[in-house]
Amino acid sequence: MHQVYLSLGTNLGDKEANLKMAVNEITKRVGKVTSLSAFYTTEPWGFTSEHAFLNAVCRVYTTHSPMEVLRITQDIERLLGRLKKSINGAYSDRMIDIDILLYDDLQMETPELTIPHPLMWERDFVMIPLKEIAPDIIHPNHER
Ligand code: AMP
Repeated sequence: MHQVYLSLGTNLGDKEANLKMAVNEITKRVGKVTSLSAFYTTEPWGFTSEHAFLNAVCRVYTTHSPMEVLRITQDIERLLGRLKKSINGAYSDRMIDIDILLYDDLQMETPELTIPHPLMWERDFVMIPLKEIAPDIIHPNHER
C-alpha cells in the first residue's frame, strides 16, 4: 500500500459539490481516503479571476503506481468536467484540478510527473490544508 497526498481545487460551479464528487471518485478509483482537510476558500494563484477557489487536500492509500494515479486523477478531472457540461451546458476542464503532492517518500522527475509536486511548497492553498491533515510534512531537501 502506498500513501499519497492529493490536492484538489475548483473555481467553477457548485464548488463544494465538485470537491465532494472528486473525493467520491478518488475513493472508488484510487483507494481509501483516510483523511480529508476542511475546504478552504482561496484567491486564484498565478492568474486573475473573479471566481475564488475552493481547495482541499486528502490522503489516500493506494495500490496504484504514481503514473496510474496520474492517469486516474486526469480521468476524474475529465469526467467531472463532462458531467458539468451535461448538467448546465457549460464545459470547463478546470472544473476540478487534482495534483499529486506526495507519494510515500518518492522523488521522481519525468516529463509527465514530478513528485513531490514542485510548486506545492510555495502555495498556501496547498500547504494550509496539507498541514492541517499532515502537520509533520517537511520538504525532503530542506532542514526545518
Ligand atoms: P495542470 O493542468 O496545471 O494540473 O497540469 C497538469 C499537467 O502537469 C499534467 O499533464 C501532468 O502530466 C503534469 N504534472 C507533473 N507533475 C504533476 C503532479 N505531481 N501532479 C499532477 N500533474 C503533474
